[in-house]
This record gives sequence, structure tokens and C-alpha cells, in this order.
Amino acid sequence: MRIGMKEFTLISEVREELDKALKNGKTIGFVPTMGALHKGHLELIGRSVRENDITVCSIFVNPIQFNNPEDLEKYPRNLKQDGKMLLSHGCDILFAPSVAEIYPPEEKEDLKIDFGTLEQILEGKFRPGHFRGVAIVVKKLLDIVKPDRAYFGKKDYQQLMIISELVSRLQIPVKIVACETVREPDGLAMSSRNMRLTIGERKVAAKIFEALKQVKERSATQSIGVIKKWAIKHLQENPAFRVEYLEIVDKRTLLPLTKWNNRQNALACTAVWLGNVRLIDNLELF
Ligand code: AMP
Repeated sequence: MRIGMKEFTLISEVREELDKALKNGKTIGFVPTMGALHKGHLELIGRSVRENDITVCSIFVNPIQFNNPEDLEKYPRNLKQDGKMLLSHGCDILFAPSVAEIYPPEEKEDLKIDFGTLEQILEGKFRPGHFRGVAIVVKKLLDIVKPDRAYFGKKDYQQLMIISELVSRLQIPVKIVACETVREPDGLAMSSRNMRLTIGERKVAAKIFEALKQVKERSATQSIGVIKKWAIKHLQENPAFRVEYLEIVDKRTLLPLTKWNNRQNALACTAVWLGNVRLIDNLELF
């Protein structure tokens, strides 16, 4: 039986605890998050709990992955409630370090990996530096926790690919486990940012997933160019929406598809502003 959850803010303390677990031959599952937890995060936690002896969740709002200072400032933080949710879902260790613990002022951040186009397209194009920030913090967290398995959501598809690339290039001995996107009953992908939507915006937010589902349906009969134009226009008919991109890509490279010749690997992905909240979503088309 699991009794309680241990909480740490210091690297040395969480390492000491995990060293004990390692000595006892326990397997470790790791779920890195930025907190403001919802059912999407809890699905990852649940899977880790089922597949490992010990589950570690980190909560760290990583400043260096925010290209927009307002987004960082307004990012929801709710550590107390997060702790309760993690405890009730069987998480064993919560690691919630300070910014100074992860980024000591005397240390200079550096990551000698060139992700090539993967970090320049889609999210990378609109959020310069974002994936470098993600990769730096995930590498640090993997070095600290040294998990057997680490769990990431397909909701952040490009992030998942960046992390897989990071782990493979640096030969970090961890299995990256990709988890399906968890949605609200109306289809909106769960996200910590959803709580920043107004009531009116929340009502129309499900149109993002509806548009992606329409893209999938239309892919049987229409060309990629026609579908993309239709979907962007359809979303923007509602003045609350501003589509930053909506692309149909090859899910192995995230490069745009122009013809349906790789149908089985097609992925529709989009980033949409709803008021002043930026939401992303994607859907595998086959
Ligand atoms: P975040 O706290 O937004 O950085 O997310 C932490 C992890 O949870 C990432 O691997 C996300 O991809 C994953 N995640 C966030 N939202 C969802 C969701 N709706 N369904 C599945 N996984 C999610």
C-alpha cells in the first residue's frame, strides 16, 4: 500500500530519496509538469503509477521556455491543490523546486544540440527559443530524477518529438512514453491555460477540436490546400478566434504535407488565440 506522498524542493533531498529507491531495485516513473494540474496530467500520473514502483511528478514553471513574459506571469499556479490531486492519484514524490534551485545564477545554460527544422517550424516558428528552454529543463530534470520511464502528452506533439530527439541524441537511458490527449466532454483538449478563458471564450473553445475533426473527415475527399483554407476560415468566422497556424504535416518529421501521399502519417495541428489565451491542439488523421 502507498502511504502518503513526499514533497521536496531541493535537488539533494529528492536525490537522496531516489537513491534509496534505486538501491532497493525500484523502478521510477517520472511526469514533468508546470502544475495547475488537470485530468490530462493525472492520466500521465495514473499510467506511471501502474507501470512503475515509484512515481515522481515535478512541478516547475520553467521561465526559460516562455517567450512571452505575460504568459509566464499569468501562468496559473496552484501548488496546494496540485499536491492534493497527486496524493489522491498515487503519486509518491512531488518535486517542486525554485527557479534558483534549477538555474543557479552562477551556472550558464547551454545545450549543444541542434534540433534542425524540428525546433524552427510550427510552435518553434511562433515561439522562438521555446523548445530550447523545454529541452534544457527536461534534460536537467531527467539528470536529477534518473527515471526508467518518463511520460509526455501527445497534446504537445512537437515537444514530445523534441524530447525523444534529446534523449536519443544524448543517449539518456530512459523510455519516453507518449500518452493520448485527454479532452473535456465537448472535445476541448485539457490545458492549464483553459482556466484563463472567459465564460464566453470557453463556450466556443470546442470549435478548435471540431475543426480538426472536420479536417479528418474532409481528408477523404478534398485536397490539403482546400481543407486548410476551409478550416482557418471556419474558425475565424468567430471573431474571438485568431488562427496562428493550422497545418497538415507528416507526424514523423512535422514537415507540411502538400499531397495525400503519406496519409497514414498525417497529423493536423493548430495554434489558435482565443482572446488573449493561446491554445494548441492536434489530431492524427488516420
Ligand atoms: P504542462 O504542465 O502543460 O507542461 O504539461 C505536462 C505534461 O502533461 C506534458 O507532457 C503535456 O503534454 C501533458 N499534457 C498536458 N495536457 C494534456 C492533455 N490534455 N492530455 C494529455 N497530456 C497532457
